[in-house]
Amino acid sequence: MTEMHDYIVVGGGPGGCPVANRLSVDGRTTVCLLEAGGDNKHATVRVPLLLIANVPKKNGFNWAFDTVPQKGLNGRIGYQPRGKGMGGSSAINALVYMRGHPGDYDEWEAMGCPGWGYRDVLPLFRKSEHNEVFRDAFHGQGGELNVAALRTDNRYHKLLTDMLRQAGLRETDPNGAEQEGYSVAQVMQKNGERCSSANAFIEPIQATRKNLTVHLNTQATRIVFEGKRAVGVEVVQQGQARTIRARKEVILAAGALQTPQLLQLSGVGRAADLKPLGIPIVHDLPEVGYQLSDHPDFILGYQIPDADGLLGLSPKGLFGLWGQWGRYKREQRGMFTSNFAEINGFMRLTPRSPRPEVQYEFVVGLAIDHARKLEPRHGLSCHILCLRPKSRGSVKLQSARWQDAPLIDPNFLDHPDDVREMVEGAKRVDRIVKGSREIGPRIKKDLFTADCRSDADWEAVIRARADTNYHPVGTCRMGTDDRAVVDARSLKVNGLQGLRVSDASVMPAITGGNTTAPTVLISEKCAEFVLAEARASASPVHAAAMVS
Ligand SMILES: Cc1cc2nc3c(=O)[nH]c(=O)nc-3n(C[C@H](O)[C@H](O)[C@H](O)COP(=O)(O)OP(=O)(O)OC[C@H]3O[C@@H](n4cnc5c(N)ncnc54)[C@H](O)[C@@H]3O)c2cc1C
Repeated sequence: MTEMHDYIVVGGGPGGCPVANRLSVDGRTTVCLLEAGGDNKHATVRVPLLLIANVPKKNGFNWAFDTVPQKGLNGRIGYQPRGKGMGGSSAINALVYMRGHPGDYDEWEAMGCPGWGYRDVLPLFRKSEHNEVFRDAFHGQGGELNVAALRTDNRYHKLLTDMLRQAGLRETDPNGAEQEGYSVAQVMQKNGERCSSANAFIEPIQATRKNLTVHLNTQATRIVFEGKRAVGVEVVQQGQARTIRARKEVILAAGALQTPQLLQLSGVGRAADLKPLGIPIVHDLPEVGYQLSDHPDFILGYQIPDADGLLGLSPKGLFGLWGQWGRYKREQRGMFTSNFAEINGFMRLTPRSPRPEVQYEFVVGLAIDHARKLEPRHGLSCHILCLRPKSRGSVKLQSARWQDAPLIDPNFLDHPDDVREMVEGAKRVDRIVKGSREIGPRIKKDLFTADCRSDADWEAVIRARADTNYHPVGTCRMGTDDRAVVDARSLKVNGLQGLRVSDASVMPAITGGNTTAPTVLISEKCAEFVLAEARASASPVHAAAMVS
């Protein structure tokens, strides 16, 4: 017999887990969460520092996509790690809890997304959050997603914050009233362990909610349509293909790279792209996969011959780590709780800028090239991100086969303003580091920018080294205009029935910060839309039960 549920959610990341939780809360509505990967209970997922084992390579936790050659990066092929398994990318990411600037959400509203302004979304951020540190009007207590202070306390951590203070910068809560300034990362951790979207929203309810089915190692390969209505999903599970039916809706949460891929494989996308691949068109929706936006990232690197407090693979550093492992097991504190990007900051490039244009993330080690090459030296690095890139790219199919990775083109540094902001941001942070009495005198070697004199030198080194900060969004843009992929008032796919999108792909503009918290917000909002509609269509008796 064909398996059937009220709702099918495709993807167990920050876009999928919250909505699966909220829709199954009444104990009766049946929800099926499909995840291509496994349960992700492995130590390399739970222990924050061990993300270093998963990010650099393709394995059971990481899809590890490549981009197409990037014109703006001298033709280089970029790397796009994406989490696989429960928690999605929040199972391998750097754990930074960052919502973006309040003005980002007001911008969404102004772009034609009513109900997405900051005053609308703040209560939803608070709803899903349990913040162990901040108890004020900006933060929530009692929500599922645990946000904690970093439990690492190495010497460089303090030297870096001293350096930023001496440079005249202010320590802020970037999720509070003022984003500009610096902060020690607020991390999605609980008791020193990662708190992924699955740890937060699914694990605690999985044993008791019999109406929630989680199918692991189950990849959706096509959405099944009857006419223009989505009625189920074809999946491959342990090598076997079968169909799972949805009585009410299919909700896509496969992330900004794989949600458009699944739509396109199912005949929803730009007809001119799909027809040559032999894919029958269900609905011509030209922007599916287009409007890809991602934060370009350039890493400053400084060699510092000091194994005390800095991550690195020297014999002394490894010996130190061994001691730290013992400490982690005893106290769940210390280096193994590090998220790498320990200190974050935001800067405006002109006093007139309404929002910071640049984010910087200091790492107490040399994790260069996504840590794909082992780095034996000790040192500090700092990621520089252009927060609102104007370049737009795309995600397209290379074939009609679901097994083939999508063609990912972030089109990094296509727009000259993106380059200008990266250059300016990198120069300023470099000046702070080298001019500081805390860090400057300890630097043995500036690894990448020692020879930069002019802006052209900086641009050359940035184009030669930059890549992603792992925040692809926008490939199923929401809005209320004709070309939008999903309707901002419902997250329903335009022109189709029974189909919504609940993940980072709906963002109409990238947020100025890391993208997990905004994706959890989108998922909360999706649940609100679905539940409000279900209430409206339910009988009065049933509706009362759903509210209570
Ligand atoms: C290395 C790295 C570091 C990052 N650091 C941070 C950070 O510090 N802070 C932050 O806020 N953000 C960070 N991010 C970004 C953040 O993790 C993502 O923005 C966020 O996870 C997006 O959520 P999503 O649900 O849209 O997609 P994802 O998290 O990618 O989840 C999609 C899920 O869908 C599954 N899936 C895909 N296709 C299918 C299919 N066909 N069938 C079934 N399942 C499918 C995938 O396996 C995955 O589990 C980082 C990301 C990475 C990769």
